[in-house]
Order: sequence, then C-alpha cells, then structure tokens
Amino acid sequence: MANATAAVTGEMKQLAVDDKLKTGFTQFKKEVYEKKPDVFGELKDGQSPKFMVFACSDSRVCPSHVLAFQPGEAFAVRNIANMVPPYDRAKYAGVGAAIEYAVLHLKVKIILVVGHSRCGGIKGLMSLKDDGSTSTDFIEDWVKIGLPARAKVQANYGDLPFAEQCSKCEKEAVNVSLGNLLTYPFVREGLINKTLTIQGGYYNFVTGSFETWGLDFNITQPVKA
Ligand SMILES: [Zn+2]
Repeated sequence: MANATAAVTGEMKQLAVDDKLKTGFTQFKKEVYEKKPDVFGELKDGQSPKFMVFACSDSRVCPSHVLAFQPGEAFAVRNIANMVPPYDRAKYAGVGAAIEYAVLHLKVKIILVVGHSRCGGIKGLMSLKDDGSTSTDFIEDWVKIGLPARAKVQANYGDLPFAEQCSKCEKEAVNVSLGNLLTYPFVREGLINKTLTIQGGYYNFVTGSFETWGLDFNITQPVKA
C-alpha cells in the first residue's frame, strides 16, 4: 500500500514536471519565439554572440534574465561559484573547450565573469577546512580554484563577520577567475591584439544592483600555457 501511494505520488510529481515544461515552452513560443521571426530566422543559420559569460549555476542568477541577453547574444558557461579554472587540459577540459570555442570560433568580444550575493559555492570555499581535507566528491575540489581569493580575504578582512568575508570573497573570486583567463593562450592573444576584453561583474540580488569592473593586466607578451 505504501509503495502504491509512493508510486501515485511519483506519477503526480512527474505530471507536474511535464506540465511545467509544456506550459513553459508554450509561453516562450508564443511570447518570444513567434514574436521575433527575424531574430530566430537569423539564428537558424548560426550564432555570433558578442559576449561569453561565466555565471554561477545558482537558480537565482540566470544571466539571460538578469542582463536580458536575447538568444544569440551570450555564449554562457555556468558552474558552481562562476569559476574560471586555470588552463589544464586534463582537469578542466570542459571549461577550456568552451573558452577555446568562444574565442577562436565565435570570436566573442567580451568575456564577462559574474559573481553574485549569497553564493553557496563561495560560502563552501570560505568554509573549507584549513588542513585541506574534503568530504565531498567534487564540490570542494572545484571551489578550491578560488583559494587565492579566500587567502586574500582572510588576510585583509579576517576580523569581519563570516557573512561579510563571504561577500568580499564573492568579488575577489571573480578577480581570480579573470587572472586565470590569462593562462589561456588564445585569450592572451585576443587581449594583446585588442580583439577581446575581459570584465568582472557582480550581481547583488539582496539590494538589486549590478556592477562591473575591468582589471588592468598590462599584457604585452603571449605566454605558452
Ligand atoms: Zn553561486
């Protein structure tokens, strides 16, 4: 009996999911797709987005919503804590492939890394044990990409309450990611040739604000990764 109830409940949940997807797509098709035949007609033949965007996987920070990117405008990578890992063909091939494709094939003009308020990934980074031990299969190793940001925050703001340290780290981790972008030879090439710029961004959904900044890396020489 319990199993039967569970099965019925499961079926109802599935129906609700199907319903959400169906009504969601119907709404999109009616209100967006069919209203912009020119945009979607052009996109059938290809894409040439100006932006590559790194954003967190957090369900509250979708860049298409927050920055009103239309289909075709932003090539996006979303992951825990919007991190750009350093160039590493073995460890981070997924992100590397996305950057390579965006820069060399799509020829994006801007790479934007967007951090956000109350980021669970950054909180995880700030909560890592000092002895380096981990209890998760993937999460902690992933957020360790931001360790230099954590170290900087602990050194400069170690006496602030934990939540404020996390806020500082949300922005500092974006700077680490911007620095890591420079380890990709094709990104450096683009910056030197001025065909590409990189920018940091921060979306605060508590105050409803968005800010951007650039970093002056003063790059003159391409280096081999
Ligand atoms: Zn996040």
